[in-house]
Amino acid sequence: MNILVTGGAGYIGTHTCVELLNHGHDVVIVDNFVNSEKESIKRVEEITNKKIKFYEIDILNEKALDLVFKSNKIDAVIHFAGLKAVGESVEFPLKYYNNNITGSIVLFETMKKHNVKNIVFSSSATVYGMNNISPLTEDMPLSTTNPYGTTKMFIERILTDLYNSDNEWSIAILRYFNPIGAHPSGKIGENPKGIPNNLMPFITQVAVGKREKLSVFGNDYNTHDGTGVRDYIHVVDLAKGHLKALEYTMNTNKVEIVNLGTGKGYSVLDIIKAFEEGNNLSIPYEISERRPGDIATCFANTLKAKKILHWETKNTLLDMCKDSWRWQSNNPNGY
Ligand code: NAD
Ligand code: UDP
Repeated sequence: MNILVTGGAGYIGTHTCVELLNHGHDVVIVDNFVNSEKESIKRVEEITNKKIKFYEIDILNEKALDLVFKSNKIDAVIHFAGLKAVGESVEFPLKYYNNNITGSIVLFETMKKHNVKNIVFSSSATVYGMNNISPLTEDMPLSTTNPYGTTKMFIERILTDLYNSDNEWSIAILRYFNPIGAHPSGKIGENPKGIPNNLMPFITQVAVGKREKLSVFGNDYNTHDGTGVRDYIHVVDLAKGHLKALEYTMNTNKVEIVNLGTGKGYSVLDIIKAFEEGNNLSIPYEISERRPGDIATCFANTLKAKKILHWETKNTLLDMCKDSWRWQSNNPNGY
């Protein structure tokens, strides 16, 4: 199949392109490189020994997007393009609503115009908000604490309404938990611009000497060691989940929401320990204040993914720590 991957130059997009290409699919990437580098696409080509067609365009650009669909016979879309920094979304909500929601609407309109009605969409566990108790199931009530999360919740709703208006659409909405790790080649990985917001890239930047120490945001949560517990998933497992979701959309006409996680929760201190032991390194850290908006515990119920996508994770926490470090140590300054 010929798959259009929006945001395909980014962290999860590149790993998914590797899996798509390795499974015999063709890939067309659309990305404006607002949070990525062209080099990442070259690396995917190196890993897979295949050529990728890419368009440097903004999904908000209706005309340019239309031309992509006119020039390529697209079978399905995997939609990663979006801004994802929670703090920035609080500061610039309109930028987030415009880029993520309007951009998605332009994409869906263009798909409809060209009669491409299969889509896999990147949502997030952030839509479960502060009030649900883990393990989180897909039918729990949603709430959000920041504009980024609200964009995901709205796009989920827009896709569901779109399906309800025309059930020729086939839609998989994937709620990711915490993707970390990197391709085992060490050629592609997470490459945050500026100071990392997320735990693992911060740890790897401390390990490589770019940051002095990690701040652990709070040790007074109601968890086994007081630090926040999350469901960390290897990005390659996550990428493989997209192939399964794509297959699912090709064989059904439904809208389904599915968690992609491991179902296991690890604390910040568990992650530091695993990273230190797995890589024989020491990570200096200090305990600091809680980060506003953080919850104590968040991990997935993974039954639906097993049942309908026939997918589950394979990589261990140790694999995630080793692969994250291989990527960072091979590429201390990113791409
Ligand atoms: P990323 O920033 O690495 O990748 C997103 C890509 O989209 C980037 O290459 C960026 O340049 C591109 N992009 C953004 N706006 C665009 C626009 N208007 N037009 C064209 N391209 C645009 O992020 P990622 O970690 O790979 O995340 C991919 C998707 O998964 C995002 O939608 C994100 O919100 C979602 N998600 C990520 C996480 C995570 O922790 N990484 C968790 C849950 C959900
Ligand atoms: N965290 C931390 N220090 C950091 C970044 C994150 O202690 O520099 C903690 C954070 O409070 C949370 C966990 O690590 O408990 C995962 O945070 P991340 O931002 O990676 O994911 P999210 O909170 O969005 O699930």
